[in-house]
Amino acid sequence: MKKIGVLTSGGDAPGMNAAIRAVVRKAIYHGLEIYGVYGGYAGLLNGDIEKLDLGSVGDIIHKGGTVLYTARCEEFKTREGQEKGLARLKEYGIEGLVVIGGDGSFRGAEALTKLGFPCVGVPGTIDNDIAGTDFTIGFDTALNTVIDAIDKIRDTATSHERTFIIEVMGRSAGHIALWAGLADGAESILIPEEPFSIEEVVERLKQGNDRGKRHSIIIVAEGAGSALEIGKKIKEATNYDTRISVLGHIQRGGSPTACDRVLASRLGAHAVDLLLHKKGGRAVGIVNNKIVDYDIAEVFKHEHTIDKDLFELSKILSI
Ligand code: ADP
Repeated sequence: MKKIGVLTSGGDAPGMNAAIRAVVRKAIYHGLEIYGVYGGYAGLLNGDIEKLDLGSVGDIIHKGGTVLYTARCEEFKTREGQEKGLARLKEYGIEGLVVIGGDGSFRGAEALTKLGFPCVGVPGTIDNDIAGTDFTIGFDTALNTVIDAIDKIRDTATSHERTFIIEVMGRSAGHIALWAGLADGAESILIPEEPFSIEEVVERLKQGNDRGKRHSIIIVAEGAGSALEIGKKIKEATNYDTRISVLGHIQRGGSPTACDRVLASRLGAHAVDLLLHKKGGRAVGIVNNKIVDYDIAEVFKHEHTIDKDLFELSKILSI
C-alpha cells in the first residue's frame, strides 16, 4: 500500500475534520501518499481528487463541517457508478480508501470492497445510529448543542410558566433525544423506538404541575412525531401555555467537542492502520473505550439500539 484516499459522504457531522486530519497525518507518518476526494462519491466520479500534505489539514481540528465537503450520489448506488469510481481511483494509483460517513456511505465502501478495492468505514453522524460502535463522531457535539439550546429555553419556560415541546434530530433513532432528555431533566422523552401515548405525556405533565413545577420540557425525536402536532394535542388536553421549538440544522454544525475530536483522531488513525495491513471491508468503532474494527456488513445486519436503562432512568428522575 503506497497511496490511499479519504472522503466524507452523506450527512456531515462535527468532528469529521478531526478524522480527516488524523487519516492524513497518520498516513504520512507511515510514508503513504494521501489523496483527498472532494464531495463524497459524486466527487469521486467527477475526479475531484487532490493530493494532501501535512499542511492541508492544519487548523481544521476545531472546525465543524468537512473541508472535503460531502454529497449524496445516486449514481454510486449502481454497479456502473461503482466501477466508474473504481476506475477513477486506479487512475490516481490509489489502493485503499477511508470513507467517513453514515451507514449509507458504508454501503458504498462495502460495494467497492466487494469489487476488490479495500475500504474502511469511519462512523461520522450526529445520530449515533451505527451498529457496532458505542458512539459515532458528531453525536457528542450535537448533544451538547441541544443541551445548550434547551438550557436557554428552560430559562424562559420557567419565567413564563410554560410547557415547551422541543423537536430534535433523529428520524429513525432516538439517541439524541434520549441523552438530551436525561441530561436536561425533560419531563417526557418521545423517541421512535418506544411507543407512547399522549394521555401518558399529559398525565406526567399534570403530576408535575400539581407539585408546583413552573415549567415542563418534552423532547421529541423527529421520527417519533411532529412537535407541532404533539403540542396541539397537549394544549387541547391541558390548556397549559404551550410552545414549540424545532432545533433543526444547528444540531449539525459547530466546533466539535473535545470528546468528538479525540474519538475522531483515534478512529481515523485506526482506519489507516487497517489499510496499511490491506484490511478492507472493515468498520472502525469504539466499544467500552477501546478502539475496535469489525466486518462492515455487520452494520447493515444490526441496529444500534437505544439504551433502555437510560430511558427508564430518565423516567424515574423526572417525576
Ligand atoms: P449517510 O452516509 O449519512 O447514511 P446516505 O444514506 O445519504 O448518507 O448515503 C450517502 C451516500 O452513500 C449516497 O448518496 C450514495 O452515494 C452512497 N450509498 C448509499 N447507499 C448505497 C448503496 N446501497 N450502495 C452504494 N452506495 C451507496
